Amino acid sequence: MNACVSFEGIGKSFVPGQLVLDDVNLSLPAGATTAIVGESGSGKTTLLQLVNAVVRPDQGTIRVFGEPIPEDLVKFRRRIGYSVQGAGLFPHMTNRDNVVLLARLEGWASADIEGRYASLLEQMGLPEDVSDRYPGELSGGQQQRVGLCRSLMLKPRLLLLDEPFSTVDPITRVGVYESFQNVQRHEGVSTVLVTHDMREAVKLASTLVIVNQGRVVQAGPTADVLAKPDGDYVAALLRGQLE
Ligand code: ADP
Ligand code: MG
Repeated sequence: MNACVSFEGIGKSFVPGQLVLDDVNLSLPAGATTAIVGESGSGKTTLLQLVNAVVRPDQGTIRVFGEPIPEDLVKFRRRIGYSVQGAGLFPHMTNRDNVVLLARLEGWASADIEGRYASLLEQMGLPEDVSDRYPGELSGGQQQRVGLCRSLMLKPRLLLLDEPFSTVDPITRVGVYESFQNVQRHEGVSTVLVTHDMREAVKLASTLVIVNQGRVVQAGPTADVLAKPDGDYVAALLRGQLE
């Protein structure tokens, strides 16, 4: 398997003696979406932040597209899109400026910026008239779409999403899922999605990784996990009993 991310023997604690991640070994497929699912406090965000080196492991190695994380983190992170809960847009900048900011800093030509921006807007199902408005003037679902556009602007090889849909109400969320899936069909970017919502994970991801208290309890193709949940914990999560 071509892996976008691999975790090899990862151990992490923030407080001595309290393991937040315990011997995590995983290979996540490139060109697909993997969901990391678990309850609050299970270590999902820490796993994601190990990938963009916001957090460093105590033990083990992380590889991104086969390579250990390099020294030059600025360059490394430019190839990684990152989006978090609540979109995290700059309130004093227009939506367009939020999306294209990094491309401008990278020195992209204006025509390339405009082309990429227009394409993302269309794929995300955003009307052109959001461009000159501010994030606070949009609905939660639209803000989340703008946040996804921003994380995709530089055509990242890898997209890391930390509960990006959890602040959007359930009905609006369905539309945002569809826009996200539309982008995935077009761009096929390797994606790691962290969520506590098993239904969301099953809908959006072809691979599931179930974590509980810092350990991986099951990992594999979504269909396999659904067909053969490994143990009571995974079965209860699938029945929606732990949310
Ligand atoms: P999740 O995203 O699944 O809710 P986290 O990865 O955020 O879980 O946290 C896992 C555990 O690590 C929690 O017990 C949390 O309190 C602890 N933790 C996370 N980050 C830090 C930190 N910077 N300092 C101390 N403890 C932390
Ligand atoms: Mg988290």
